[in-house]
Amino acid sequence: MSRAHNFSAGPAVLPLEVLETAKNELLDYRGCGSSIMEVSHRGKEYMEVDAQAQDRLKSLLGLGDDFEVLFLQGGASTQFMMAPYNFLSKDQTADYINTGTWSKKAIKEAKLFGNVNVAFTSEESNFSRVPTDSELKLTKDGRYVHFTSNNTIFGTQFRKEPESNGVPLICDASSDFLSRPLDVSRYGMIYAGAQKNAGPAGVTIVIIRKDFLKTAQKENLSTILNYHTHVGTMFNTPPAYPVYMVNLILGWLEKLGGLQAIDEINQRKAGWLYDEIDRDEFYNGTTEKASRSLMNVTFRLKNEELEKKFIAEATSNNLNGLKGHRSVGGIRASIYNACPEESVKALVEFMKDFRQKNG
Ligand SMILES: *Cc1c(COP(=O)(O)O)cnc(C)c1O
Repeated sequence: MSRAHNFSAGPAVLPLEVLETAKNELLDYRGCGSSIMEVSHRGKEYMEVDAQAQDRLKSLLGLGDDFEVLFLQGGASTQFMMAPYNFLSKDQTADYINTGTWSKKAIKEAKLFGNVNVAFTSEESNFSRVPTDSELKLTKDGRYVHFTSNNTIFGTQFRKEPESNGVPLICDASSDFLSRPLDVSRYGMIYAGAQKNAGPAGVTIVIIRKDFLKTAQKENLSTILNYHTHVGTMFNTPPAYPVYMVNLILGWLEKLGGLQAIDEINQRKAGWLYDEIDRDEFYNGTTEKASRSLMNVTFRLKNEELEKKFIAEATSNNLNGLKGHRSVGGIRASIYNACPEESVKALVEFMKDFRQKNG
């Protein structure tokens, strides 16, 4: 068996230890004679997995009983629509912070349901940064403030929550969910497609504060798209296998020491890469330093020819998934929670070597 150093932006690398457990439990889940994929979602085995995943999420994030945890389908993209569908009406205005492709998609959907005030945009600099608090032009009495905590494509990340003056935050945390501790009291809702930092594709984790949920519309909503439908019950079949995988990953995170511990590891990993980028002019970071992402490290070389060569030689050295998104170009190293420190070290060694031969 040979596992590549995997820098894919998503779906992304999973912890080897978790994959081993899944493999060992695949044919006979803990003596029940079937895999967890083959049993009723209302049976004892799956119900335990689902409850444990919820408990672990609550304990890792420090969520009290004032939060609901939902495992939904349709990806983060469905939440772009579902959040305003439930929380924004024609006569209301929500603030949206536009820091990249995913923010823009969220804005497009929200406009179908109510008024959107774009409180900040960095589009004119090709999304090279996130705002400071003083740059936000928030509406008076806004319904909520929506932001994308980590911009997967452009490689920027909020260092801390934007200041919303007490208005609930709604966060698309798809690409840095569980990468660091959060001040959960600031949020009305957090959502994340699992496939970057929390598991395989197929489940979207949605966390909603109960008092915020109380303010959601209840009338004339489609049943399946109404958050209330999913609270406390399994309305329909959940994405059982992805939830099972998420639960294993949450167990792995607990064993590592929780979000404080993974945050330290993530800072260390990103630090090695940014140090190498900043060493001289050979590699150029594409984002402003204060906005740099610890999850997606984006950089360019002198010209596209050299970038092609970099990616081709990296791939032949077992370093995969490094091609940047077409809207930025260049190189993107996605180094989520599950990307081992050895992989980042291998990439840094490759970068040094490549500079020496081509500088
Ligand atoms: C990948 C990604 C999405 C899209 O997620 P889907 O689950 O594919 O809908 C949304 N937001 C961010 C920040 C992402 O990285």
